[in-house]
Amino acid sequence: MKRRTFLAAAAKTAVAATAGSAFAFEKKEPLKFAQLKLPYEFNALEPHIDALTMQIHYEKHHAAYVKNVNEAIAAENISASTESDLLRQASKFSAKVRNNAGGAWNHNFFWQVMKPGGAAPTGKVADAINGAFGSADKFKEQFSKEAMGRFGSGWAWLVKKNGKLAIGSTANQDNPLMDVSELKGTPLLAIDVWEHAYYLKYQNKRADYIANWWNVVNWEEVAKRM
Ligand code: MN
Repeated sequence: MKRRTFLAAAAKTAVAATAGSAFAFEKKEPLKFAQLKLPYEFNALEPHIDALTMQIHYEKHHAAYVKNVNEAIAAENISASTESDLLRQASKFSAKVRNNAGGAWNHNFFWQVMKPGGAAPTGKVADAINGAFGSADKFKEQFSKEAMGRFGSGWAWLVKKNGKLAIGSTANQDNPLMDVSELKGTPLLAIDVWEHAYYLKYQNKRADYIANWWNVVNWEEVAKRM
């Protein structure tokens, strides 16, 4: 090969190699849901939520949702850019994706909106709640009623929609970010009313679990999301 021909061939190879790697770059890694670190110890919400329930809930239930959604995203070749991007298009995907994406996201949210020694809402959250529901007690009453009234497994939520606060609930692991959800809006607060969230300590007494759960609500976190 003459030197000139060789250089031209080498240049072509280089272009091909660059194009090849550019293509590999474009083929993005599939989206992965993350399990956020629990912001407190398993026993931190005692006596309202017991340590064993927290540990099983976090290490078994939540971890399984995260593992399963990531498997399903890879298996079904789903190209969503973020967790909320995927949730917004939940109607397009399989039940496995919908249920486990919801389970992964909802629990990350749930851990953040609780904390040891939660008090009453203050400041702008208190103002917003008083404005929308009359008083903090009336809000609690309505939210608790929604959580009690959710038949079977699901969640009760406080959301902000078009600048207004609203209370509602979702079935299974649906959430207000999903296009398939009966309740839509920006989630501000949620309670998990699946039996796995309370059965060890409260058995069938969901009302007692809900009543005690108010002691661990992280109102600062609700304020941040408002
Ligand atoms: Mn749960």
